[in-house]
Amino acid sequence: MKNEKHKLPILLYHRIVKNKSEVGKHKIYVFEKQMEQQLAYLKENNFSTITFKDLLQAKPDDDFSRKIILTFDDGYEDNYTLLFPLLKKYGFTAVIYLVTRLKKNEWDIAEGEPALPLLTAEQIAEMNDYGIEFGAHTCTHKALNEIKIDEAKGEIENCIADVKKLTGKNVVSFAYPFGGINKKVKELMRHSGVPFAVSTNTGPMNWYDDKMQMRRIEVRPGEALGSFKNKVSGFYLTKKSIYTLFSTSNKIKY
Ligand SMILES: [Zn+2]
Repeated sequence: MKNEKHKLPILLYHRIVKNKSEVGKHKIYVFEKQMEQQLAYLKENNFSTITFKDLLQAKPDDDFSRKIILTFDDGYEDNYTLLFPLLKKYGFTAVIYLVTRLKKNEWDIAEGEPALPLLTAEQIAEMNDYGIEFGAHTCTHKALNEIKIDEAKGEIENCIADVKKLTGKNVVSFAYPFGGINKKVKELMRHSGVPFAVSTNTGPMNWYDDKMQMRRIEVRPGEALGSFKNKVSGFYLTKKSIYTLFSTSNKIKY
């Protein structure tokens, strides 16, 4: 532990909710109050939020202490109504991964989740102007490791083109739906021209060791601030915590 090297924390969130009544069975939310408490902690402790665009010029030896990347998967409308005001209040940015050819979370509704609207083009444009970075998360939220390679290619490439059209910017990162990754999928990503791809809780501990499978740290519903502090410390991904992450990984649904 003594010589443990600081590791840039890339946090993983999905929804922001006001009340417990809004949630489904998947633990893919944090409460608005919890989110604000976390952002306030980061502000008070002089953290700054960076994005994958900042990593384009970065080197492994750069100093990332007090730096953090906040990522939000699927592009739920609550990212505009609840998260965006908080980001503005604290002067932070984030990375939001868009599912570009669905208007609702159809992949989850079949499993009994509430139907949730995804961000509109207008909402995306406003957040894009503010400086939020948008990444690609496929067209229809398919597990890429479970579909034919040509279909996976289309899901990736068409989504990247959609995000570029929505933002007017090159797409810098991609998130694998359900964390579904295999060799072929990574190879498709490598050829897509997008420089970074994030997984859920798999991949090496350092951001630069595999840019096609960058590990993220999930923030859980109702998580205590003490646990959050540990996750953003840069020393969370030790061998011990990796073991804990793996032991629960197959139960987590994204
Ligand atoms: Zn997702």
